[in-house]
Amino acid sequence: MTAGLRVVSLSKSYGDPPVPALDEIDFASPSGSFTAVVGASGSGKSTLLRIIGGLTVASSGQVTMDGLAPDELRRRKAVGWMAQRPALLPWRRVIDNVTLAQSINPRPRTLPDPDQLLSMVGLAEAALAYPGELSGGMQQRAALARTLAIGAPLWLMDEPFSSLDELTRETLADDLLDIWASATPTVVWVTHHIPEAVSLADRLLVFTPRPGRIAGLVEVDLPRPRDATSGAFQSVVREARQLLRGAPRAEVVA
Ligand code: ADP
Ligand code: MG
Repeated sequence: MTAGLRVVSLSKSYGDPPVPALDEIDFASPSGSFTAVVGASGSGKSTLLRIIGGLTVASSGQVTMDGLAPDELRRRKAVGWMAQRPALLPWRRVIDNVTLAQSINPRPRTLPDPDQLLSMVGLAEAALAYPGELSGGMQQRAALARTLAIGAPLWLMDEPFSSLDELTRETLADDLLDIWASATPTVVWVTHHIPEAVSLADRLLVFTPRPGRIAGLVEVDLPRPRDATSGAFQSVVREARQLLRGAPRAEVVA
């Protein structure tokens, strides 16, 4: 068995005649690592997450997480999802949204305590509120608590902060990193916001525009919490931006 997430020669086409959305994606993420996938709209980022999570079938190639295929991961409820919109049930209080996720996802492993989760995401005071009574940032915090509630070893995050303002995004990112450090899941984080990816991830996979191919891999070898104003941070941002714009690797390094 190979530990961590492995994606091998993964391709996906949609439609008839088939139009490629992902072309020969290869990468490996060690257990407990944080990988960001960065690319333009339409470059296949969501498709990649859906294939990893077992919601879409690949046209060719393989995905395994700790040796398990996506349909098996799905069956074992080993995947925590988070999307751009919080999708909370509006008629249930915040705490009930979290406990409901646990009750419809029964599994043998020990689940985190819902009250503790709400404290971790800074929503202890809002446990009894309804989602409609919360700000966008608080709703996304509640969605994060719900994702964490199932204790999944793999988190697939599809632009979860993209509807948030800069300040909310930054504070939530700090909290998220603390939670990640204590829960140590393997994370694949999709974003089109390069500084966000550089502040969070161990490495960035930069995708080409459609069809998505890996334009390059950028390692972020900076201690956390990261200072976005430092020269080292900005040089990583620049490297990723150049890859995104299609510069050949040699030009990036020069
Ligand atoms: P991203 O998340 O990077 O914006 P997507 O994975 O959503 O990219 O989409 C990649 C490409 O595949 C897009 O051109 C999109 O139109 C197409 N696509 C995505 N899902 C479907 C689908 N279910 N049926 C047909 N085409 C799709
Ligand atoms: Mg998408």
